[in-house]
Amino acid sequence: MASLYLHFPFCKQACHYCNFHFSTGLKNKTALISALKKELVLRKSEVKTPLQSIYFGGGSPSLLSLSELEEIIGLIYIHYRVLDGAECTLELNPDDGHPEYLKGVYNLGINRLSIGVQSFLDRDLKLMNRAHGATDSLRILDEVSKIFDNYSVDLIYGMPGSSLVEWQKTLDRVLAFQPPHISAYALTVEPKTVLHRWVQTDQIQLLDDEQVQQQYDHLVQRLESEGYHNYEFSNFGKQGFYAVNNSNYWKGLPYIGIGPSAHSYDGASQRSWNVANNAKYIQALEKNRLPLEKETLTPKDRYNEYIMIGLRTEWGVSKGFIETQFGPIYARYLEEQAEKQIAANYLYWDGDILRIPVKARFLSDGIAAELFMLHLA
Ligand code: SF4
Repeated sequence: MASLYLHFPFCKQACHYCNFHFSTGLKNKTALISALKKELVLRKSEVKTPLQSIYFGGGSPSLLSLSELEEIIGLIYIHYRVLDGAECTLELNPDDGHPEYLKGVYNLGINRLSIGVQSFLDRDLKLMNRAHGATDSLRILDEVSKIFDNYSVDLIYGMPGSSLVEWQKTLDRVLAFQPPHISAYALTVEPKTVLHRWVQTDQIQLLDDEQVQQQYDHLVQRLESEGYHNYEFSNFGKQGFYAVNNSNYWKGLPYIGIGPSAHSYDGASQRSWNVANNAKYIQALEKNRLPLEKETLTPKDRYNEYIMIGLRTEWGVSKGFIETQFGPIYARYLEEQAEKQIAANYLYWDGDILRIPVKARFLSDGIAAELFMLHLA
């Protein structure tokens, strides 16, 4: 099975924490859509298995009109094999979806929305420079839940100045809708963002790690008590509503990324990424050239990535898989490196699978780093 990701690199305005590839000037929109369509056709032979998921991400793909979405989806169906019932997701900003648009999107075969709510506090939304307010989110959740069975809500915790009580109230408001899926990310300070400048110049005070962890631990506890599975560090799904697109990525299945800055992986050792520049992307495709760079992953790269991702998911890290994929040296290394972490109750064996206990989940990345292979090629 494979997945297709399509990156639409335009936004209404720049959120202060965001370092994704996007532009706020829409003047190249038409040329960029033509380039996306050309890339879709030029790369069709790269995908050897049917698509189990299609994902419109960005940027803000909910700035695509219904007719633009229809053309792109039509092209995907002409040139790619798409499984019956494949998941087809559109990222939606709460200020973009009026009811006619939502119905139109649904009628085009988009069967899942990922809604960028982020917070229910206008104070936070202003600080983040989001284009929507809390009332937009309440309206969109009400409308989406009438049309779509499957949708996800994106939230951000650890906001500067936020309290645990405010975070609890945000979760109350989301859970009133019982969305089938919730993604919640800690606010991170990325280089070259307004937030980064504010932190560097002491204009803003971040929460300390302990306060952020409290919000995360509360999130896990609360959502699990409401019947959600924390199947990946930041992702929570009701049974049958895990995100297919992201799950395939975490399981190491192949995906193709179309659009500027999009990444692709062949499911074995080849990874590639498109240029993160709209003008260069358009110019290359006008000349029928693919604007991408490639790398070949070494077994060590793949082992480290498997550890990093596996420990963040409910599927864990399988010693048997490591032995067959990478050989006995890697399996032995894993066992030896895990010993100290097991003694400190940061890891445990569940048969052949190595997992992180719930109470240490917040520390997943640091625990995984202790198991990385640093020296073998
Ligand atoms: S809408 Fe999304 S992609 Fe665009 S600037 Fe905001 S966070 Fe970044």
